[in-house]
Amino acid sequence: MKKLSIVIPCYNEEKTIIPFLNACKKVEERMSDELSFDYIFVNDGSKDGTLEILREISSKFKNTHYLSFSRNFGKEAALLAGLEATDGEFITVMDADLQDPPELLQEMYNKIKEGYDVVGTRRADRKGEPIIRSFFAKTFYWLINKISSTEMVDGARDFRLMTRQVVDSILELNEVNRFSKGLFAWVGYNVYYISYENRDRVAGETSWSFWSLLRYSMDGFINFSEAPLNIATWTGSVSFIVSIFSILFIVCRKLLFGDPVTGWASLVSIILFIGGLQLLALGIIGKYIAKIFLETKKRPVYIIKEKG
Ligand code: UDP
Ligand code: MG
Repeated sequence: MKKLSIVIPCYNEEKTIIPFLNACKKVEERMSDELSFDYIFVNDGSKDGTLEILREISSKFKNTHYLSFSRNFGKEAALLAGLEATDGEFITVMDADLQDPPELLQEMYNKIKEGYDVVGTRRADRKGEPIIRSFFAKTFYWLINKISSTEMVDGARDFRLMTRQVVDSILELNEVNRFSKGLFAWVGYNVYYISYENRDRVAGETSWSFWSLLRYSMDGFINFSEAPLNIATWTGSVSFIVSIFSILFIVCRKLLFGDPVTGWASLVSIILFIGGLQLLALGIIGKYIAKIFLETKKRPVYIIKEKG
């Protein structure tokens, strides 16, 4: 029988793991004549009782395993560790909080059988989400699709069913700064999207604040687009050309008409403007250099302290 490996990143999920596993077991039973399930929980340095629960369930069920990090490395790292630990013919990634409904697995698997390589899920709406967050999320997708050649689907969740081949391709990308939404899209393949209505977490709280989301979206831009660098180059070139013309203009005016000293205020504001642009461009370049710096150190993306 073919095996489905399920990767579940967990950060402070003591309240959700059991309801999650119960919901999955129901689906597992229903699909038991075509797939055998294998669970890989990744404890991403939780500060609550997550690890104890994982130890318990992994000793209770033969097909339930866990990896536990030495500290919180972030969801991206947890996803990578989980994917590397899989050995099934099919692989899926799910959140522990039941926002990714396991009931969809049957429908997703049917699509895989039709010949798709990846079946992704996307939220049909952003109900229950603060308006301002929806606004920024929409703007992020709009902008990144404008400036990056990797297409990212608005509302696509990390919950997806993939074939072994796709996961192997993703694992071949050995960058340290991992922006999974981009990596998943970058590898290509035939992707089918299933929409479903947004759900609330069963328990616990989201670990994303507005600022952490903003930082995350900056990562998306820096990792998947050179546009910010190009913007800096272009605004630099344009203001350089404009300044050449204005120098010519000023010199000619001086020679033809003489030059009373006026306009120092506008001069100062122009200096400030150009100075500001330069700092901005330096900042953007700095961001990329910081990423290169991190990449060249070749630090491991995560450290596993315990396995089970
Ligand atoms: N998560 C993780 N490490 C982190 C933050 C989150 O492994 O540093 C996991 C979390 O346990 C959950 C999934 O990533 O299974 C999604 O997190 P969350 O529900 O907080 O995000 P949201 O659904 O609000 O986007
Ligand atoms: Mg969630």
